[in-house]
Order: sequence, then structure tokens, then C-alpha cells
Amino acid sequence: MGDAPPGRLGVVYLVGAGPGDPDLITVKGLRLLCLADVVVYDRLANPLLLEQARPDAELIYVGKEPTRHAMSQEQINAVLVDRGLRGLRVVRLKGGDPFVFGRGGEEGEALAAAGVRFEVVPGITSAIAVPAYAGIPVTHRDYTTTFTVITGHEDPTKETSTVPWAALAAGGGTLVFLMGVGSLAGIADRLIAAGRRPDTPVAVVEWGTMPQQRVVEATLATVAEAVRAAGVGAPAVTVIGEVAALRPTLSWLDKRPLAGKRVLVTRAQEQASALSALLRARGAEPLEFPVITIAPADDYGGLDAALRTVTQYDWAVFTSANAVRQVEQRLKAIGASWSVFSGLRLAAIGPKTARELGSRGCAVAFVPSHFVAEAILQELPNVAGQRILLARADIADRRLVEGLRTRGATVDEYVAYHTLVSGEGDNAVRRQLLAGEVDVVTFASSSTVRNLRAVLGQHGFADALRGATVACIGPVTAGTAGELGLTPQVVAETHTIEGLVDALEDYFSRGRGDDGATL
Ligand code: SAH
Repeated sequence: MGDAPPGRLGVVYLVGAGPGDPDLITVKGLRLLCLADVVVYDRLANPLLLEQARPDAELIYVGKEPTRHAMSQEQINAVLVDRGLRGLRVVRLKGGDPFVFGRGGEEGEALAAAGVRFEVVPGITSAIAVPAYAGIPVTHRDYTTTFTVITGHEDPTKETSTVPWAALAAGGGTLVFLMGVGSLAGIADRLIAAGRRPDTPVAVVEWGTMPQQRVVEATLATVAEAVRAAGVGAPAVTVIGEVAALRPTLSWLDKRPLAGKRVLVTRAQEQASALSALLRARGAEPLEFPVITIAPADDYGGLDAALRTVTQYDWAVFTSANAVRQVEQRLKAIGASWSVFSGLRLAAIGPKTARELGSRGCAVAFVPSHFVAEAILQELPNVAGQRILLARADIADRRLVEGLRTRGATVDEYVAYHTLVSGEGDNAVRRQLLAGEVDVVTFASSSTVRNLRAVLGQHGFADALRGATVACIGPVTAGTAGELGLTPQVVAETHTIEGLVDALEDYFSRGRGDDGATL
């Protein structure tokens, strides 16, 4: 953890992380998380969110399992106060909303008492989001005008119940219980005793909004036994009321075209997580099996010299986000910065590359509409007589450089990085692949196709792909797949990973995808 600049006042942000699905954090919460010096988190904040924190941020786990608190609330308060007083920016990341059964109030009180400034960033509470992911609206004009959120786990030290059972039963509105899935028998008994009908529909949702979401549908009379039989545990939300019966009509999660599909991601480790996150957000289960390793080039003499005299160029062309990152390393190595490019026009071959440049303060003058050599050559402004610096991978489509030269440009091309076959790879994924348990194999470049074949061997490659849908980012990659005996069923029209995932979703929503690849 870095020290705060002297004199800076600390601030603690009580941030709602949302109910589980990492995409359900707010924009504000995510922005603060990316900047925080310290992140204090517990079990219900999705670990994937922590990847958004700065690499040098201090991450403090404070537990909070139903039966075991890794830290007491007093200790958590003390950590928040301590880091705040040290002038740090602290994100206290809490599941759902910080003020809905989240003890955010207690933490705020402790911070106020210690004179540490704090802000609250509300989150999407599991009380509404978990039912929504199960296809249950907590209100519906035809069924209920109220919904009540109740703890199913009253402070055990309380002598008498403060839950107004009679009022809850009589009102007839939707009841949403958080916590206390183990006390459902008692809850159901009390409601029935207080006059709620035993056949009132109930749904219990375990790990809602997460890939492992499970739902048990029952009635007040049967719910305790149903939950016991299914082995449902915490965290779970229980919805009681007529709206629970809407689930068969309104459930949508399992109907998403990619729901439950196992999708192989073959990109390099550094690039895999972006594709995995997109797939996960659409309900697929990404399996990362990187077949490419990105390694520095053997010799940077030429590139370094070109960067030292970069003002002689009119254009700099970056063919990938990796090229941007490697050029940055070289700029550091020669004691220069991105400002040397200020007199040049920059071209980025895709939106990701453009974003990498943009985030470094570089204005991008050109991004082609399609990320293939033909489009770039057609759309680039007149380059005759222009001097172009091009940073690329060792293996690259020759058509771009040749096309630029044909059009009268002088092109100095430099290898910014190597892509090597990765021999590593998760053995569990390898087994799933060879057993034909992977539904879709994605290829985001020609080298991923070649390398997968190299890693699995010819027979393994054939076996793994026989039953799978083959999806390629564009026609060049599809061409390589074709040369190696595959017939890709999906070729993205927009040659980005977003385009690839869209194309996959389209393909499966048209009810295709049971035919498998032809070898
Ligand atoms: N502040 C949180 C609630 C914390 S209390 C919020 O606003 O959501 C913890 C309880 O929340 C759990 O016992 C469970 O009832 C519920 N919960 C949180 N995340 C959940 C999830 N992904 N699936 C089901 N229940 C969840």
C-alpha cells in the first residue's frame, strides 16, 4: 500500500457492489474502486470486481460468512477509521446496497465519530435484483401494491421478536426475506399461524445473479421441506407472495441464447479476461485455455532508434493493444514518453487498440470501419509519399504493409512483440476439451487456430472440435481454420471480441448450434 500524499484527508466510500453479477455494480462505484488505495471487502462482493482495483491497492478481506466472522464489526470499523485517518481513499465494498442489512449505518457512525469523511454509493440490493434474475417482479399491479424486506435472521440476542408477523401476514403483500434460509420452517409457520394462506407461492433463490443461481419453487406449506431436500444454503433470498407464481412466464435467465454454454477462450492470458467477461455477462461459461504467449521481441534496436527519431514520420500505425503496451515499454526504456508522438497522426486497427492509445492521452486520427487489411487500405486518407511507422506482432498479415507500400507510402515496420505457442494450459480444461465437453471454441486470430492444433496435436484437435461450434473473429481467421480442416459455423461480421460474442448469440438464438463442426 502506498502512503497518502502528506496532508491529504482520507475518505471512506461505502460502496454497494450489487448482488453478485459483477456487471451490476454502479458506474460510480466502479470508478471509485478503480482509484482506491485500499479496498475492504467481504464474502458477498464478487471477487471478479477486485480485479478492477489498482495492482498496488491494499485488499483487506473481512469475511462475514453466516457462521464465522473473519473480523468483528468493531474490527472492521477500526480498519476503516485507521486507513481514513492515514489520508487514504478507501472503498468499503459491500454486497448489494450498503444500507440494506449491510451494517453500512454502523460503519458510517464509527467514521463520523472518528471525524473521517465518508460517502455512500448505493448499490443494487439483492432484495429486488435476486428475485428479478429469477423472473419475479417484487410488485405487479394485478397482485400486490407493497413489498417488504425483512431479515430472516434477527439478532439472536433479542429476547422477543420485533418482526411484526401478524401485520406481514395480514397485509398480503410481497415478503422478501434476506438471510436465515435455515429458519424458513419457523418463518413459514409463523406466517401461516398469523393467517397467510398455506398455498401462497414461494421462491427461494440461492446465489442469485451468479452463474450458479438455483431456484426452488414451493408454497408456504412446502417450502421448508423443499429447501431441505434441495440442500439450499446461504446466500439465498426468499420471496413470498402471489408474484412468485409469475416465474414460469417471466423467467429469462435460462432462456438467453448462450446460457450454460461452455465456451473455450484461446487468446493469450493477458487478453482472455476481456472475452471471458463478455461471455459470462451473456450467461456462458468461459473456459480459458490460452494457446498464445506474448513475449518481448528478440531485438529492439530498430524500434528504439525509430522511436528516438519518431518526428520524421507522418503516421504511426498500431496493429493491436499489445503493440501499444510494448511501445510503451520501449518509450520507458529510452527515457521518452508518449508525447513524442504529438506531431504524428496515429492509426489504431481496432477500437480496443484505440482505447489503449486514448487512455494514454494520445489522439487517434484513424480507426477503420472493419478491422481487415482491405478496409484499412480503402479508408486511410491518401498515404502516397507519407512516412509510416508500423508496430506489429512478429506474425502479421502481410497485406497491410504491402498495400501501404503499393499506395506510395514508405513503411518502416518493427516487431513489437512475439506471439509464441503456449504449451501450458489448464489440465482440467484440456480434459474437458478432449472429452468433447466444450460447446463452442472461439478463435480470435489465425495463430490461435494454429496454436490450438499444435498444443492438442492433430488427433486431439480433431476430437476436441468434432462436436463443437467453431466461432472465428473474422474471415482471415476463418480462412486459417478452413485450411486446417474446420468449417466455422460462426464468423463475426464486426471483427472485434464484442462482434464475436454478438455473432455467437445470434447463431444460438436462431436455434442452431446442435450440428457441430465438420472436420
Ligand atoms: N446489503 C445486502 C444484504 C446483506 S445481508 C443487499 O443489499 O443485498 C446478506 C443476505 O443478502 C444474504 O443472506 C442473502 O439473503 C442476501 N443475498 C445477498 N446476495 C445474494 C445473492 N447473490 N443471492 C441470494 N441472496 C443474496
